[in-house]
Amino acid sequence: MKKIIFATQNQGKVKEIKKILEGMPVEVLTMDEAGIDIEIEENGKTFEENAVIKAEALKVYTDAIILADDSGLEIDCLNKEPGVYSARYLGKDTPYEVKNQIILDRLKDVEQENRTARFVCAIAAAGKDMETMTTLGTIEGYIGHEARGANGFGYDPIFYVEGTSISTAELTPDEKNAISHRAKALNAMKEKLKEIESKIEEIENKTIQEKAEYYEKKESISKKINDMLLRKNE
Ligand code: IMP
Repeated sequence: MKKIIFATQNQGKVKEIKKILEGMPVEVLTMDEAGIDIEIEENGKTFEENAVIKAEALKVYTDAIILADDSGLEIDCLNKEPGVYSARYLGKDTPYEVKNQIILDRLKDVEQENRTARFVCAIAAAGKDMETMTTLGTIEGYIGHEARGANGFGYDPIFYVEGTSISTAELTPDEKNAISHRAKALNAMKEKLKEIESKIEEIENKTIQEKAEYYEKKESISKKINDMLLRKNE
């Protein structure tokens, strides 16, 4: 079975990815499971750049296809902050209850129509014999006036789904997976991987056909030579 390595140490993300890639003939491994232990610096300016940096950093360690993701929250009235800095925003080790409260305070006087925000996720797929591919998934919403819900993680309690009064922390994991930025980006990548899978198959089939033609030709040439030798000996 073909192996795919997911460039993360986060078991939660791998679980999510395994679920979404279900039905594909691939085995998804974490970096740990693949025996790769490196720190990758995410210094890209966009989610796509960071996902590509992470996926390509692993290329030298394996022949398998590598998937990597980068995600975050964009709040329009804060110039799309925290964006690619989402994990580090207001301090890497600051608890999210504190970070979320600070954001709510900052947006205290912002009107409803200007509270728009979105979660964004970029996925990159890299491998030795392929061009690196990326996909992007988003979920639109807004920053609510209070933190609500106990599911999910990070900014989920203050992010409300567009057109509803429900925060993503109030959704069950399955409900969130059905609409999330990560699921959308992964599903798009799944389609792209299927495309390259069928291209690889096409090339392999073509090679088999070419091989068959080659052996057919070779056989007919050796038959001719044999016939000539037989005639010469007569
Ligand atoms: P990374 O993709 O592991 O770099 O994480 C980026 C950060 O974005 C996370 O640490 C969270 O702060 C935030 N984030 C990304 N996706 C979500 C989500 O689905 N819910 C809440 N926060 C998220």
